[in-house]
Order: sequence, then structure tokens, then C-alpha cells
Amino acid sequence: MPPDRMAQSEIKLELKELTKKLDRYDIEYYQNAAPSVTDAEYDELKDRALALAEKLSAPDLFGRSSIEGKVGAAAARGFRKIGHPEPMLSLEKIHTDGELRDFTATLEKELGRLPELVADLKIDGLSFAALYENGSLKYAATRGDGRVGEDITENIKTISGFPVSVNGAPATTEVRGEVYMMKDEFLKLNRELGERGEKTFANPRNAAAGSLRQLDPEITRSRRLAYTVYTWGNVEPAPEWSTQAGFYGRAAEMGFSTWPSGFTRICRSYDDLLAYFKYIEAVRHEIPFDIDGVVYKVNDIALQKKLGSIARAPKWAVAHKFPPQRAITLVRAIVLQIGRTGVMTPVAELDPVGVGGVMVARATLHNEDYIRTRDIRPGDMVYIERAGDVIPQVVGVIVEKRPHDSRPFEFPERCPACGAGLERKEGEAALKCPNPDCPAVLREYMKYFISRDAFNIDGMGDALVELFADKGWLGTPADIFKLEKSHGAQIEQLDGFGSKSAANLFASIEKSRDISLDKFIYALGISGVGSATSILLADKFGDIGALMGATIGSLLSIHGIGEIMARDIVAYFANPEKSALVESLLPQVRIKNPELEKIDESNPFFGKTVVFTGTMSRLGRREAEAKARSMGASPASSVSKKTDIVIAGAEAGSKLETAKKFGVKIIDEDEFLALANPE
Ligand code: NAD
Repeated sequence: MPPDRMAQSEIKLELKELTKKLDRYDIEYYQNAAPSVTDAEYDELKDRALALAEKLSAPDLFGRSSIEGKVGAAAARGFRKIGHPEPMLSLEKIHTDGELRDFTATLEKELGRLPELVADLKIDGLSFAALYENGSLKYAATRGDGRVGEDITENIKTISGFPVSVNGAPATTEVRGEVYMMKDEFLKLNRELGERGEKTFANPRNAAAGSLRQLDPEITRSRRLAYTVYTWGNVEPAPEWSTQAGFYGRAAEMGFSTWPSGFTRICRSYDDLLAYFKYIEAVRHEIPFDIDGVVYKVNDIALQKKLGSIARAPKWAVAHKFPPQRAITLVRAIVLQIGRTGVMTPVAELDPVGVGGVMVARATLHNEDYIRTRDIRPGDMVYIERAGDVIPQVVGVIVEKRPHDSRPFEFPERCPACGAGLERKEGEAALKCPNPDCPAVLREYMKYFISRDAFNIDGMGDALVELFADKGWLGTPADIFKLEKSHGAQIEQLDGFGSKSAANLFASIEKSRDISLDKFIYALGISGVGSATSILLADKFGDIGALMGATIGSLLSIHGIGEIMARDIVAYFANPEKSALVESLLPQVRIKNPELEKIDESNPFFGKTVVFTGTMSRLGRREAEAKARSMGASPASSVSKKTDIVIAGAEAGSKLETAKKFGVKIIDEDEFLALANPE
């Protein structure tokens, strides 16, 4: 019923219920980074609650004051609390062109004309405040409930490029911004969590929140977060910048990462604002991080002050949100996808449907709990959303359209490939096939084994692994190296093959026998051990035998390896099946141990601290860092006075500026390669 036709007692009752629900959702979202409802559902409830609160004749505990003024959720237990010198507010939101008109009309009315506005991206992450005194970082905190946040100082320091000291900032400078996770990092993290049987995150925002708000900063470090500074709080003496856009420039000079060029725009009319919104909406999918709209802010700070704030948001800014990208379709079936570690991921096979410009035919259902809490069944009509922009999600079922004979989805008890009873470890969300010889798990593992970062076998892809395994020629990775002898003649006879392509394949396999130690370690697929960790392990242990005998203590002495990973590594080599796998591989390969390559100490990078920044066109970042390491250099993530050389790729930002300020030697990618590989 619309609130204006309800009795006061009814309004109070419903508002009380809604407030309770919203409080619970706030805690799930802000504190636990694991919401149980979608943002659209949450926003609907919140709008209803606000409409009810409007109609209360006398606001009380559950009335206007509490619901309208609320920002976020209280700081979680376990974190030290930090009070914000000035409250951290939220933003008012608009969704339609009409609401944008209203916003510009209100500004015109209040100020007598439409002021200049800055438009920027609304990054979907979580906000932070960081306070510097005399240029040094004192603390960083989350927004919390806007007044008191959580101390995340140690965590934020682990973000690459986050400055612990800044240049030329006023004596007290509090900057504010957003911490977020790049889409590709998010997909990688989810893949790794899934393989370990741990709960995955529904979108990059939750992943960023769950990674930053960690009691153990080493976990934050392993998650590779990013940040952008977009406003300030307490600044004394008073800031010398007089516009919002002016602040962006100053913040970059101080050494902060701010908006990449081209992402902010000065707008002078309603049409300018709308054009920016449409432009960003069109290129949204090309932006490497998630955004959920754009933000318009009055540029002139004197005018911002004149306009002031309401309880939960400033009046001089507004967030223009993108509409949720939703579609309705049929779940044809729920199938299990088997991962290389044995984890079973349920996947919904859908009637293909377009969502936000992309055709979606499959959507992950994450795990058994996800299906159960939403009661998703084969034959259901469901809502698909790409709220998080990256992964399409099944967010809800249209129960009215459910077929009469529908039954809840029964998670199979046995592995569909080998029949072993599925297991679920305590505290883990995923079901796993425990059989080390499960043919499906081994196939998935072999696909990983031949992939680029591992053995990198040219000309061999997933399809060939499937084909050879179907024929019974491949059971374990060691069989790959025996293929030529065992089935060379048959492979030549295969459709689409011939002696030439078979010879090429065998040559690639032969070539792949020479492998660096870090790639070999990576290829083993130890839980949580990605390329970067493999390099650390190779550097520390120098040969595979030493790593096989590593103790937790020796692993923990490596900067960047935490307790969980150390335990996983030791457990891997203690497992008889895994050590048998390693033993079966050793006669087939020639591992290049880093120790054996004597570093030429006269090379220009030996003993130097180097920082890579910007985009390299010929080398990946990790590859470049590995190259530097192999020459005896130590790559670091941020520039300081101690940095010896900065290697700047395209679009290098604040690190390059800092390097110039400190007079650090700067070279580009070409010079780096020329010095690294002299003729
Ligand atoms: P918000 O996060 O939508 O907007 C305000 C925030 O935007 C600011 O605090 C700031 O952190 C951020 N921001 C990003 N880019 C910015 C920029 N360029 N300039 C200024 N600020 C920028 O608002 P909110 O009040 O924190 O949260 C409400 C949102 O969270 C809603 O979308 C709601 O759906 C969602 N939510 C969902 C649940 C759930 O259970 N699903 C629960 C609570 C909140």
C-alpha cells in the first residue's frame, strides 16, 4: 500500500521491520563483504523505507532520523577504531534523465545559474580516508558508519604505489578515495579461491572489501588491490586548491594515484553531463575496473561550501547510476564442472540471452549453498544480472513460473567422472572429488600443465588434451613427454594431422622439456601458488629437491608467503601421490635452476632497486620483474629516495612524477631491454 494511505501505526510497524532487515543487509555488505541480496533488491527496500519515514508524523527511533541519516555500517569487531575528523558521507543517487534535470534545476535555483561541474567515474569499491602529518602517513581507515571507521593502515600500505610519504602536502592532509580490484585480478582471485575449495566473491567490490578489511595484512598484499584518490577531508592549513579538478592535479603531484587522463570531464550544461554519462556507459566494458555510474560534483569549492550537506550526503554532488543489466531466461540444466583440484562447481546452462550487450549461455552457481539459499532448480525461469559487470549471476527465481513437477536440485553425492564419494572439508564451501586418479580431474590438471605460464607447449591446447585422453593415450602429465614414442604413428593418422603437424607438436613438446624452475613449480599446481610466488620459491630454494624438503619455517622467511600458503606447500610434497607425480616428471624434464646461472655482476642492474611503472609493450610486468631479478636487481612496488632506476612504460603516472622529483634515473622499456640484452 502506498505510505500516504497507511495509518501511522502501520507505517511504524513496517518501518521497524524494514529497518531491521536493512541493518542486517548493511552488516552483510559492509562488514562481511558477503551480501545475501542484490543491490537492486536492497535499493528497493531502502526506497520504500525512506518513503515510509517521510510519512511519519513524529520521527522516532525507527523514523526519519535513523534511516535518512544512516551511512554504511559500524566498524567491525577486531579492528582498531578510528574517528573521522569530518564525517565521511555517502552520495545522493539518481537513475533517470528526469532526475538529472531536477539536480541541475536545483543547483540553478540555489546559485542563480548552473555552476561548472566535474564529472568522474563512480568506482565500485570501498572508500577510505588516509591522514598524513608533515608528509608521513599516520593512519588509514574505512568509512564505517561515516563517523567511526576501521583502522586499515597496515593493509593499505601493501597496495602497490600507495605512498607512505608524500611531497608538498599541507601539514595535515587527509585524502579520501576508493580502494578497488581490477576485473582481471578479480577473475584470477576467484579462480584460485575456487580451486582451493574456498568461497568465491560475487563481484570485484566484495572482493576488494574482503581483501582490504583483513586482520592479516599479508592476505591484503597477496590480493593486488588498486586505489584512486578523489577528495579530501581535514586539511590544515586550509587547502590552496580552489576547485575539485584542481585538487586532482595537486593530489597527483603529491604522489597519489588519481583519475587516469580522459576519465574526468568539466561539464557546463545538462547536455554536457548527459553526454558524459552516455559516453562512459558505452565504454564501460572497456574500463579495467568496475564502475556503477558516474559522479557529478560542483567544481568550485566555495560553491560546494555554500550548498552544504544533508545528513548523509553532500548537496553539491550526485551519483548517476547505470541501470542494472538484467534479463530473464530459462535454466535448461545444472551441471557440475570439475576443476583441476577436484572442486565441483555447479553451473547453470541457460537459454542464451543478451545481458548488457553480451550473450550469456552459462552462469556459475558457485557452490551448493548458493543454490540452496536461492532454491535454483533446473526448469526455472531466472533473473540474470551483470551487476558486477564481469560475471553474469543468477540473482533470483521467478517462483510463479516454476513448472508443477519441479524438484529442488540434488547435489550429486558421487563424482560424475569416477564415481568417488564427494567430500566437503569443514569450513569450506566446495565439494571435492578426493580421488587423485580421477580421469576428469587429471584432464583439467593437464590443461593447466600445458598452459602458457607452465610448460607452454605450443600447438597443444585443451582440445588435444581431451582428444588424446579420450583415446587413452594420456593419463598423467608425464605421458605427454612419451606421446611421440607411444602413439606417434597414430597421431600422424589423426584427422587434420599429418606428418608435418605431428612433427611440429613433438618438437614443441621436446622444447618444453627445458623449463625454468619457477615455471616447473607453477606447473605443479600447488594450492595458492601462482606465477609470482613460484618465482619467489625458485629464488629462495634454487632447486626442486630443496623445495621438496622445505619446512614451514624456511617458507615463512620469504617475504610474501604467509602461513596458509606455507602449510599448503609442505602438505603438497608430503602427499605421496603428489610426490609420485613430481618423481614421474623429473626424468622427463631439464630444469634450469636459477642458482646455476651465474649473474654477471657487471650488468647495470646488479644490486639495484628498480621500479617498473606504466604499461610495457613487449614484456608483461611480471616478466620484466623476473628479468630484473635474474640480473640481481630487486624490483620494488613504490618509488622512494632509495630507488635506483625507474623503468617507465606507456602512460606511467604518479610513480614517474615521484621519480623525477627525487632525481631517480629513469629509462624506458627499449633502454631496459637494450641494457638487459647487450649484443
Ligand atoms: P555508494 O557506495 O553507492 O556511493 C557513495 C560512495 O561512492 C562514496 O562513499 C564513495 O566511496 C564512492 N565513490 C566512488 N567513486 C566516487 C567518486 N568518483 N566520487 C565520490 N565518491 C565516489 O553509497 P553507499 O551509501 O555506500 O552504499 C549504497 C550502495 O551499496 C547501494 O548501491 C546499495 O545497493 C549497496 N548496498 C547493498 C547492500 C546489499 O545487501 N546488497 C547492502 C548495503 C548497501
